[in-house]
Order: sequence, then structure tokens, then C-alpha cells
Amino acid sequence: MCSVLHAEKAVEAFILKGHLAEREVIVLDIPRIFTITESEHRIHNPYTSSKLATLGAALRLKPEARVLDLGSGSGEMLCTWARDHAIVGTGIDMSPLFCKQAEQRANELGVAGRVSFIHADAAGHVASEKVDVAACIGATWIGGGVAGTIELLSRSLCPGGLILVGEPYWLRLPPTEDIATGCGATGIADFHTLPGLVASFGELGYDVVEMVLADQAGWDRYEAAKWLTMRRWLAANPHDEFAAEIRNQLSTEPVRYVTYTREYLGWGVFALMAR
Ligand code: SAH
Repeated sequence: MCSVLHAEKAVEAFILKGHLAEREVIVLDIPRIFTITESEHRIHNPYTSSKLATLGAALRLKPEARVLDLGSGSGEMLCTWARDHAIVGTGIDMSPLFCKQAEQRANELGVAGRVSFIHADAAGHVASEKVDVAACIGATWIGGGVAGTIELLSRSLCPGGLILVGEPYWLRLPPTEDIATGCGATGIADFHTLPGLVASFGELGYDVVEMVLADQAGWDRYEAAKWLTMRRWLAANPHDEFAAEIRNQLSTEPVRYVTYTREYLGWGVFALMAR
């Protein structure tokens, strides 16, 4: 997500080149802006821990259920569901920082034996052993959009398994394209309304069997948490090459967010089963 929506992460996904000793190493990473602004986030979406818990309970997860999470971020979903429902899980994420944070969280919650996190590009990833739940929460560019991501997840799924998709939708259709871009979208066509999104799952041959929607308070946790992170990062890194960019975002993001995203954009996780 972010001021620019998560969709842009895919477009901007890049290979960061670094130097280690004498040989060049290539580190797969996401754009640095996200690892700066979201470094303190446990959940990189407008979901709160209570929404994540509501979703876990709503899915009636059984102990030892296998869960795959593409774009697992800092691992909060898998780690808390391993603690609360004794699931076992694998997360794949392109950010080395978020993968490291996920492992730390697993240790902290005493579930390191139940979950593992793999630093990799999840595009095209199919589990070697089929899973009961295959998820992509706020990272559907991984499969080239919602339809492609559902198709990708379905390849890892047991018969009768659940697919989870976390995706934005228009709470209110923006009256102008400018308002859509103010929300961080490239245009109104980027997202459906909620009825349009739910109908689109049916058109793909899936039943929507559960749904937990985010709310404005969750959006505030996701967006406003970045502001304090940015302010403190600036104080600690005044001469960093990213300082001007972060300064600019901190100066403009609060007003942009309350004017556009907070008013126009919804977000939710939808649980799907093939018809
Ligand atoms: N699902 C997590 C994270 C959502 S943010 C949560 O809800 O907290 C989107 C995540 O996708 C980020 O962690 C980012 O690092 C990851 N990501 C982006 N492109 C990716 C790719 N091609 N493969 C794997 N992960 C990717």
C-alpha cells in the first residue's frame, strides 16, 4: 500500500546492487521508500491486529492446517495464526528486512518451529506440498492482478482449500480521475467498488465464503504510523540520499491521506472457494 499503492511496488520492484568484499552481490529487494516508511509496521496493510485475529477465527482454522502466504511482509498473519490456531505456514517475501522481522516475530511468539519465511520473488511460486489456505494479502501484483493471483494461488491449493485475497476497493467511486490519483491509484479503473469486487470473484468461478473488511481506524494505523517513523528516520539520517524524499513525503502525506485515501478507499480480505 503506501501513498503510492502497493501495486506500484511491483512496477518499481528492482534489483539492488551492493558490494560485499571484492565480489559483487545482488540482493533482491523492494524499493527503499517502503522499507524506510514501513520499518516499524507489523502489518503492512490497513488491517489491525484485531482484524487479523477476527479473520483467523472466521476461517475456522484447524491445528496443523498448512498456510502459504505470498508477500508475507513481516509475518504477522502466519506468526499470530500459528500461536492462536496452531497452523503451520510458509511466507515468501521479496524484502530481506521484512523477512528478518518475520523470523524475529516467530521467535518472539514461540512459533519458529511452525512457520518459515523465504526471501524470494513470489511471482510464479507454487508450493511443493499442497496447502489448505493460500493467501496473498495486499500484494496481488505478484500474480499480475487479482485474477492472475487467484490462479497462481490455486496451483498450491488442496481440493476444497481456501484462497485469501487482500485488495483495495473504492468505498465511494471517485468523481474525477484526479481524486483517484490522489488516492495513489493510476486511475479509477485500478479498483472495483465493493459490489464490483465481490461480483468479480464469482465471475472467476469462486464463491466468496468469508470477508473481513478494514475500516478507517485501520487505515489510520497503517498510514499515520508511517509519519512518526519518517520523522524519527529523518532525525537519525539527515544526510542520507533519501532524506529529501522522506522530508517531502512527511510534509505532504498527512493532508493527502485525509483528503483522498481515507475518504475514498476501502480494503478487505476475501476468502474464496472454487465452485
Ligand atoms: N501481506 C503482508 C505484506 C503486505 S505489503 C501484510 O499484510 O502485512 C506487500 C508485501 O509484498 C511487502 O512485504 C513486499 O516486500 C512484498 N513483495 C512485493 N513484491 C513481491 C514479490 N514479487 N514477491 C514477494 N514479495 C513481494
